[in-house]
Amino acid sequence: MSENTNLVTSTQKVIHEALDKLGYDEGMYELLKAPIRMTEVRIPIRMDDGKVKVFTGYRAQHNDAVGPTKGGVRFHPGVSADEVRALSMWMTMKAGIVDLPYGGGKGGIICDPREMSMGELERLSRGYVRALSQVMGPAKDIPAPDVMTNAQIMAWMMDEYSRIDEFNSPGFITGKPIVLGGSQGRDRATAEGVIISIREAAKRIGIEVEGARVIIQGFGNAGSYLSKFLHDAGAKVIAISDAYGALHNPDGLDIDYLLDRRDSFGTVTTLFEDTITNDEMFKLDCDILVPAALENQLHEGNAHDIKAKIVVEAANGASTSEATKIMTERGIFLVPDVLASAGGVTVSYFEWVQNNQGYYWTEEEVHEKLYQKMTEAFENVYNTAKSRNIDMRLAAYMVGIRRTAEAARFRGWA
Ligand code: GLU
Repeated sequence: MSENTNLVTSTQKVIHEALDKLGYDEGMYELLKAPIRMTEVRIPIRMDDGKVKVFTGYRAQHNDAVGPTKGGVRFHPGVSADEVRALSMWMTMKAGIVDLPYGGGKGGIICDPREMSMGELERLSRGYVRALSQVMGPAKDIPAPDVMTNAQIMAWMMDEYSRIDEFNSPGFITGKPIVLGGSQGRDRATAEGVIISIREAAKRIGIEVEGARVIIQGFGNAGSYLSKFLHDAGAKVIAISDAYGALHNPDGLDIDYLLDRRDSFGTVTTLFEDTITNDEMFKLDCDILVPAALENQLHEGNAHDIKAKIVVEAANGASTSEATKIMTERGIFLVPDVLASAGGVTVSYFEWVQNNQGYYWTEEEVHEKLYQKMTEAFENVYNTAKSRNIDMRLAAYMVGIRRTAEAARFRGWA
């Protein structure tokens, strides 16, 4: 079985268990075990050398019983149909956990944006929207940034959709630049949600964030903002990594310098000679570990070596089911991806609401509402885990799937 098939089957297992505990029958599981719609497209793009290259893209829409589907689009060479399927199911969980009127969606294109020019990226972004415009829309399915996509890509996608729709359609996509209807605080929202989760977890087990030693895997949007927030909160970020290696300093890294030197894809370690590997980094002594890169980073092979007291998953699918079991048994407090990383989609929802109303909020309002959503969500999941004596991931899935299951039942779908 490939790693990505595994993502789907391990997600299905937890969904099954969650539905079972909520008292739903097999019929509900049959409905929710896979996306209601999965679209694969081929996107021909004229490259700068004059030749045409055909890219493969996907959009998975897990379930729209609650409302339109919502979730990011990633540009990465490792994108696959099963990865996108699993990611769309996780988005349903996130929306349910923070109580948003959405179902889960997710998209991706197999490509390496690090090796493409701005012109090629623009044509690819526009091509993706043209290929999928019939199944997307502000009241159907709303994309957003994800791994290696950003506000500029959202702007091109929004512009392309607006041309097709013959309307200015800011609500088509979230994570846009502010001048095009983006929300205050959207760029930092995922990391803010993660630091709120870290604080809540630390409170529960009685450790201080100030002075805590933290490891962050990944220096993209979530990892880089988070390193800054933790640094400013007085935590000691002792290691960070990117796709090429890791940097370690037991006295704390110079975060401002690293943020200044990172490129737009989150690469920074290539500038240094004294690096360690990601696997070596995971074994380091620390209090808090935040995987903020890709899926399956914590697995059977390294979960026994994790020294952290708290693991907060900023990356979707960061731990395999074996790693979840090992870490839970070892008494590590695990805050699962679908809870910890829900800050991004929460502020995306705020952005969409502002677009629909044409009325824009201040950064303080966004921050306050995000804080409220995240702390309530944490409390809900934590209480479910405690009262049912189950791990935080299963508890998060129970909270996450409930709204979609109820809506599907009312509609007569299961
Ligand atoms: N891609 C982000 C996630 O995985 C954000 C999704 C959104 O804002 O819709 O949660």
